[in-house]
This record gives sequence, C-alpha cells and structure tokens, in this order.
Amino acid sequence: MIRVGILGGTFDPIHFGHLRSAVEVRECLGLDELRLVPNARPPHRDRPGATAQQRLEMVCLATASDDQLLVDDCELRRERPSYTVETLEALRAELGPDATLFLIVGWDAFCGLPGWHRWESLLELASLVVLQRPEQDQELPEVLKDLLAARSVGTPEAMKATHGEILCLAQTPLAISATHIRALISAGRSPRFLLPDAVLGYIETRGLYRSPN
Ligand code: ATP
Repeated sequence: MIRVGILGGTFDPIHFGHLRSAVEVRECLGLDELRLVPNARPPHRDRPGATAQQRLEMVCLATASDDQLLVDDCELRRERPSYTVETLEALRAELGPDATLFLIVGWDAFCGLPGWHRWESLLELASLVVLQRPEQDQELPEVLKDLLAARSVGTPEAMKATHGEILCLAQTPLAISATHIRALISAGRSPRFLLPDAVLGYIETRGLYRSPN
C-alpha cells in the first residue's frame, strides 16, 4: 500500500535544510512519494516576505530535478487560511484508509502543535515524523510529553500503523533557516550554498527579501 509523506512549510524561501530532510525521511521510511506543501496564509506566522505564488515557484524550482519530491499547491488554492488537518483529510479521502500517511514536522513546529487547528485530530489521519533541528531550544509542552510517551516508536521499522504513531528522527544536522537567509539578503550578504542556486537566482532576479533602503 502506498506510503506518502507531507512536509508543509512557508518555504520563504525553501532551503537545503528542507530538501535534505525530505530526501532522508523518504529513504528512511521507504516512502513512495513525499509532497512539499507550501502554506497559504499561515495561521501561526507573520506575513511571509515573498508572495504565495513566488514561494510556490521557488519550491518547484528546487525540486525540479527530483521526481520523487512532489509539490502540492492544495493549500494555496484555498480561499481561507490553510489548516494542516484539512490537507490531511483531503489526502486521506484521495488515497483511502489503507494508505500510510506521515506528517513531517521540525522540532520547533512540533513544540507549537497544541496551537494548531484541531491538532488532536492530526494523529487520527497520519503518523508524525519529528525532525531534529540543530538549534532546537524550545521546551516541549507537558501535553506533548504525554503524547510522546503514549505514541512514540523507537525506529522507522517499528512503525506499522497507517496513522497515530510518532517517530523522532535524527538526520544530518543542517543549521539553516529561512529567517537567517532572509536576514543575510536584507543585510546585503550572500546566502549561497544554503539553498539551491536556481532558487537564489530567482530571488535575485525579483529582488526578494532586500532591505527597503
Ligand atoms: P523560518 O525561519 O521563516 O521560520 P524555516 O526555515 O523554519 O522558516 P519553514 O518553512 O517554517 O522553514 O519550515 C517548514 C518545516 O521544515 C518545519 O516543520 C520546520 O521545522 C522544518 N525545517 C526547516 N528548516 C529545517 C532544518 N534546517 N532542519 C530540519 N527541519 C527543518
């Protein structure tokens, strides 16, 4: 049965931290496909620096050479704020009850999970894969400590269910963030080798993230 991973994000811009994680999770869990899902109007975040269309185009450029990394613009096509739980419901409806779904989130995103719309339903739809980030310093809320105690499995091989399990996964640590990339560009410095050249070219051509002065 099909195994699909979902990596949502603002991708403002997409960088090698996202891309390397996507490849490693795909291999580690034997996924048939991994879908990158750019968020439309992220309910928990400040306004992004690039438009939704530009963020989508950068994700497409970054993944063009890898046919197992798919780009899903379902959240950008919605008129309302995008909620992950609705994306997972749509995917579950598309792929059926036997598909194994994995929602991939970084540690920082996982720590904020209790603030997500209908967050407790997420595990009824998919399993969670929590990626470590080198600069992770957030404290895990008590409710998530309890959730981890109840639902976590130790290894990818031990994940047997179509949903409802949690795996914390160590991957190659890459201390790259979109915030840092935007700050470099705004300061007139180069973010080269933190993100694909094609994405950097796109940013430069359109003058994205530059300081207004
Ligand atoms: P920003 O700095 O603007 O907050 P970001 O670099 O964290 O952005 P997002 O688009 O918010 O990027 O990230 C999408 C998902 O990828 C989140 O779950 C995030 O935790 C995860 N992620 C981002 N960068 C990394 C990284 N370097 N290593 C592992 N996971 C990452």
